[in-house]
Amino acid sequence: MISDIIGKSKKIVIKIGSHTISDDNGKVNFEIMSNIVEQINDLINEGKRIIIVSSGAGICGIAAINKWNRKEDINYKQALCAIGQVELMNAYKGLFEKHGIIVAQMLLTREDFSDHIRTLNIRNTLFTLVDEGVVTVINENDSVSVEEIKIGDNDTLAALTANLWNADLLILLSDIDGVYDKNPKDHHNAELIEEVYDIDGLLEEIDARGKSNFGTGGIITKISAARKVNEYGIPMILTNGKKANIIKKLRSREEKATIFFSTQF
Ligand code: ADP
Repeated sequence: MISDIIGKSKKIVIKIGSHTISDDNGKVNFEIMSNIVEQINDLINEGKRIIIVSSGAGICGIAAINKWNRKEDINYKQALCAIGQVELMNAYKGLFEKHGIIVAQMLLTREDFSDHIRTLNIRNTLFTLVDEGVVTVINENDSVSVEEIKIGDNDTLAALTANLWNADLLILLSDIDGVYDKNPKDHHNAELIEEVYDIDGLLEEIDARGKSNFGTGGIITKISAARKVNEYGIPMILTNGKKANIIKKLRSREEKATIFFSTQF
């Protein structure tokens, strides 16, 4: 199922989590980033079109200006993301350049999806970039997003983007193979759930506790992202972006993941 869906999807939104592109010590892992970019390049060479939603500005910011590591003040956090966003884009630019691909950046807020005119403008820009073969990297505009107007996590932003673009598939690259019946980081016997057709049923079944330090989502935002895109008939795959060549391996059935394709709407 997963292999076939990736194979036939022409328009794919790929969300890259902060944990995916960083090590346990919170440093950016360029090897993983580079491998993800290579896989995206392969998909593009197959004729697929890709939009990226990427987290990691905070981590990249800390790498650039380490002395702010412990600043809890919201102004500092937002300033850190402003610095890190440049680092993040610089990394993507360098990696895609090797494949002759130009990258663009779009920083969005919740308002961009709730105001009709703004949404239309984003759509037009996005469609133009995609048509011209540019890979757009989307992130939340953290330096203007205060709590009240925040989307809050990039799983949701990726789902909104997939719906806006009318994508064929949303892939969330995280640091776990998929959804388990309980947090696999705390329970060795946690079992992977490979196919989800009923999200309400899933939520009753699993233990979804446990969240990361710098990832803002946790498993719950991933499940609600699935609900959002499934409502539009778009399937979502949650998989482990830390594993080299994961998209290729899902296609060759060497690796497993979770696919959400709820038909209850
Ligand atoms: P990302 O940085 O990719 O957005 P997060 O750290 O926000 O990822 O969320 C994924 C984490 O959610 C996993 O690493 C895992 O520790 C945790 N988690 C909690 N419950 C579950 C569950 N039932 N199945 C899978 N992961 C879970």
